Amino acid sequence: MNSSNLEIKNRTQKLREMINRYDYEYYVLDDPSVEDSVYDSLVRELKKIESKYPELKTDDSPTQRVGGKPAKKFAKTNHKYPMLSLSDAFSEQELIDWENRVLKLLEKKTKLDYFCELKIDGLSVMLTYENGILIKGATRGDGLVGEDVTSNIRVIPSIPLALRASITKHQATENNRNSKFEIRNSGASRLDVRGEIYMSNDSFRAVNKEMAKKEEKNYANPRNLAAGTLRQLDPKIVKSRKLDSYIYEVYGNIGAKTHEEKHKILANLGFKTSKYVKYCKNISEVIKYCREVSKERPKLPFQVDGVVVIVNDNNLYERLGSVGKAPRGAIAYKFPAEQGTTKIIDIQTNVGRTGAITPFAVMEPVCLAGTTVTRATLHNEDEIKRKDILIGDTVVVQKAGDIIPEVVGSLPELRTGKEKKFKMPKRCPVCGGPVLKPEGEAVARCVAESCFAIEMQRVEHFVGRNAFNIEGLGEKIIEQLFQEGLISDAADLFALKEGDLEPLERFAEKSASNLVESIKMNKNITLNKFLYSLGIRHVGSITANDITNHLGSLERIKKASIQELEQIEGVGPVAAKSIYEWFRNKNNLRLLRKLKTHEVRVQNPKPKTQNPKLRGLSFVITGSLESISREEAEQRIRELDGKATSSVSKSTTYLVAGENPGSKLAKAEVLGVKIINEKDFLGLI
Ligand code: NAD
Repeated sequence: MNSSNLEIKNRTQKLREMINRYDYEYYVLDDPSVEDSVYDSLVRELKKIESKYPELKTDDSPTQRVGGKPAKKFAKTNHKYPMLSLSDAFSEQELIDWENRVLKLLEKKTKLDYFCELKIDGLSVMLTYENGILIKGATRGDGLVGEDVTSNIRVIPSIPLALRASITKHQATENNRNSKFEIRNSGASRLDVRGEIYMSNDSFRAVNKEMAKKEEKNYANPRNLAAGTLRQLDPKIVKSRKLDSYIYEVYGNIGAKTHEEKHKILANLGFKTSKYVKYCKNISEVIKYCREVSKERPKLPFQVDGVVVIVNDNNLYERLGSVGKAPRGAIAYKFPAEQGTTKIIDIQTNVGRTGAITPFAVMEPVCLAGTTVTRATLHNEDEIKRKDILIGDTVVVQKAGDIIPEVVGSLPELRTGKEKKFKMPKRCPVCGGPVLKPEGEAVARCVAESCFAIEMQRVEHFVGRNAFNIEGLGEKIIEQLFQEGLISDAADLFALKEGDLEPLERFAEKSASNLVESIKMNKNITLNKFLYSLGIRHVGSITANDITNHLGSLERIKKASIQELEQIEGVGPVAAKSIYEWFRNKNNLRLLRKLKTHEVRVQNPKPKTQNPKLRGLSFVITGSLESISREEAEQRIRELDGKATSSVSKSTTYLVAGENPGSKLAKAEVLGVKIINEKDFLGLI
């Protein structure tokens, strides 16, 4: 086994240990130590590894099991029907993928319709009725064996102790999609139903308030309080805590053709069914509904962590069966998580307006609150120590709504020993100036004057019209990107993701994606523009053109000696020295390397034309041309080996006069330079 395989094996092992521990805390102790989305993120990683390396899959992996173990304090009870879990979809695309998988399994072209229900965050129970009377209520346990909590279930007011309708005799009822159904249970006297026990937000707050008064430990969330309550030994306490229920599944052949009909039957039998349900005639409607619920979520009176989407046709649902611990015909769409886990690739620093040096994490892309995030500020060195963050660590990150992403802390259990400590640079990463951290202060600063302003100007120049020409990147936004630690130089622009930008003032979702798109579109750049964008002193647009035409590639420019550079027309000794030194500065070379890693592509000019038609001729253009821009015209002249300059002199061969010519026209007349119009010029080129 090679070292990278061994690393994966070790990571798999560590992930399993952690997930097992989290499962135990959540299912058995009702006292989780991490957010659900953090748990989900680790499970996802484990599943990904297991599907990529099937040889690492084991039967006892937490990805293969349902829930936790039944606790000892209640009698165990076998479930007649296994209480499965649900597969998750963490994005709209995953819903579409699920539909495609289902269609493929059903083999023929079937049109699928769906029934959607809110996935209330409670705990699942199985209720058994015999001759219409509740005889048992059980928790899910490990899916096959649960805990018998009948006495506690009995005190929940919304759970019927006796069914309202006799099953076998119940009359056919009309439903709103014009098909008839009747409740018949193959004559059997037993009925099993499954549903969710939950606690409303109001009741949760009230109970926790009481707990606080008695100086008892608060519960983390309504789900854990509901689960903890149902497993109380004293039903009186259960009664006082206002648990509620809704029932969503009924087993056995009861004459329902669709899942929707099952809900109606359950309601007729006297169960409380959810009013937050929706029939969807296709997956697009499902996605629309998921979006709606996602928006309404904060207003709901209980905690909801997703939408359960079920193939509505019961026949097809049954045919699809189950895989591992979940049915194939249903899926839980999970709302975009605000917390997740990812790895820290590097810790870099940026310099603010006051010289403050702020470390920030460069992370493997992680999807938070619906968008991808790659960077998060770490504030200062003390904060990194306090949160125990090393380079290479797996960390918990969060981005709530429009708040800037932050690293919550590390998961040291997942360390391999290769992680590295972050060290504050001794010299400013921008200007190389001295860095000082005064005694008792948290922030280190670059004390060189105007360091920040210079770097900002560099980036402004870099994105300007004659350089990378990135629209929508004005001075204010560049300043904000620096301030928030999102960029420390121009190359960082190419690593930005929508999710990095959205939390900033000025950035709505749309403008963030526009800017990211516009940066991406301008990754390919011609050599002359690239050279200009670097902001080398004494290298303006025209000099950059001259150098490009003469040397033809970035590699040659990088290697050129001062003498070589000086020989280029338009490059004097001062410019030659400045260019030579620029390409020998460590920070500048680092910038070039970074641009390359971000896939910025510099295009060399086409080899000199075979047609040196304009050799020896020199042109000046004035006024605007109709069919060609001035830059293009000049480019064309150079391609044909002519010279394009900006001021008229005796050696100018032609002045091309477009619309509204400037003072150059008069000068040309005085000097006797030949004046031609656009048509003549086009003829020449
Ligand atoms: P699940 O929550 O993903 O899905 C299955 C459950 O959904 C069912 O058992 C049922 O209780 C519930 N549900 C709610 N409404 C439903 C409906 N209308 N139809 C069908 N089912 C409905 O799977 P799970 O195995 O119960 O547990 C995984 C969940 O528990 C995840 O959300 C996970 O984050 C959380 N968890 C968290 C930790 C932690 O440490 N924070 C540990 C373990 C599990």
